[in-house]
Amino acid sequence: MKIMVAIKRVVDYAVKIRVKPDKTGVETNNVKMSMNPFCEIALEEALRIREAGLASEVVAVSMGPAQCVDTLRTGLAMGADRGIHVESTTGLNPLNVAKIFTRLVELEKPGLIFLGKQAIDDDCNQTGQMVAGLLRWPQATFASKVVLDKEKQVATVEREVDGGLETLSLDLPAVITTDLRLNQPRYATLPNIMKAKSKVIKKYTPQELNVDIRSDFEVVQVTEPAKRKAGVIVSSVDELIDKLKNEAHAI
Ligand code: AMP
Repeated sequence: MKIMVAIKRVVDYAVKIRVKPDKTGVETNNVKMSMNPFCEIALEEALRIREAGLASEVVAVSMGPAQCVDTLRTGLAMGADRGIHVESTTGLNPLNVAKIFTRLVELEKPGLIFLGKQAIDDDCNQTGQMVAGLLRWPQATFASKVVLDKEKQVATVEREVDGGLETLSLDLPAVITTDLRLNQPRYATLPNIMKAKSKVIKKYTPQELNVDIRSDFEVVQVTEPAKRKAGVIVSSVDELIDKLKNEAHAI
C-alpha cells in the first residue's frame, strides 16, 4: 500500500509574524520557512506505518512556489521515498489544494492519505475534509492514535473530542488528518539529508493536472491583533475585587 502525505511550507512556528504594510497578508520575504508542524506529524505517522511493514511507499506532496522543494527535501530526509511538487506562484486556497491533491490521488492511487489537521499560517482546517469530500472517501480528523489492520483494510483512529476520546473505524482507502499528540516527529540525520538529495521529486503545474485554481473568495485585509494594555499591580485582594466589580464589570 502507498501512503500520500501533504506537507505545506509555512512561516516557521517560532517566527514572530509581521503583517505587510499594505495589509494584504503576512510578510514571508526574508522570513524562516519550515514544514507545517502538523504535516511533520502526518509524515512521521506514515513513516512509522511503512517501517512496521504495513505500507510499501510514502510519497510527500507539497504545493506552492519553487522553495517548496526545500520542504520536500526535508520530508525526504525524514524518510519519505519520493516527492511531488505542484508549482504555483499564485496563492492556493484550501479548495485549490484539495482539487490538486485529489487529482494526484487519482494518478498515484494511494491506500491512505495523511494531512495535517491545519496549516499554522492560514489556520483554515479545511483541506483534509475537502479532499475526503471530493474523493468520497471516509475521513477521520484530528487523529491522536492510528492503528491499521492490513488484512481487513481498516484503520482505527482515536480523536480527541470535548470531554474524551472518540474511536472511529474507517474502511481504506481513507483520509486522516493529524493532531498534536499523535506522535513526536523525528529529526533528519545528516546521512539521511545527504541521501535525500538523490531522491526523486516529480514536478507538475496545476494546469498540467487540469485544475483551475481561480478563487471564489478574496482576502480583504489582514491586520495585527490589538495591542494589550499594560497591566496594573493591585495592593490587596479587596482592591482586586473592587476593580473586577466596578472597572472590568467581570463579577
Ligand atoms: P489548512 O486546511 O490550510 O489548514 O491545511 C490543512 C492541511 O492541508 C495541511 O496541514 C497540509 O497537510 C495540507 N495542505 C494545505 N495546503 C497545502 C499546500 N500548499 N501544500 C501541501 N499541503 C497542503
